[in-house]
Amino acid sequence: MNYEQLLNKAFSELPTLSAEKVDFEIPVADSLIQGSKTLLKNIDQIADKARRSKEDIAKYLTKELAAPISINGAVLEINAKINAQNLNVKIKSYFDTYVICKECHKPDTHFGGRERGYVTMICEACGARYTVKSY
Ligand SMILES: [Zn+2]
Repeated sequence: MNYEQLLNKAFSELPTLSAEKVDFEIPVADSLIQGSKTLLKNIDQIADKARRSKEDIAKYLTKELAAPISINGAVLEINAKINAQNLNVKIKSYFDTYVICKECHKPDTHFGGRERGYVTMICEACGARYTVKSY
């Protein structure tokens, strides 16, 4: 077993592993409260990292924040005042649930499909396939 395999084994035996430990950084929201709205200015970067569409992430945030959201070019306009910390908690939970594989903790997943309120996660790194509650 080489060093990398040992490392992977050690990681796979940890009950909960944060993304940072496998060298993947969840992007931090670059947001600004303007009047009664919150502008999320780096949605493109977040979507790129997640390899999801910004529409998809907007849909998730709409539900989680219980606020209408519109996409204005590269900016997500949230119709509520959301502080950056709260926004980052939601973004982190999106990555934890819908991007990072629960088996190998790598971010190399895609959606296999949605059915009856569940989304199928398929991991390209380890081949895991499981469903999580959709949004
Ligand atoms: Zn995996």
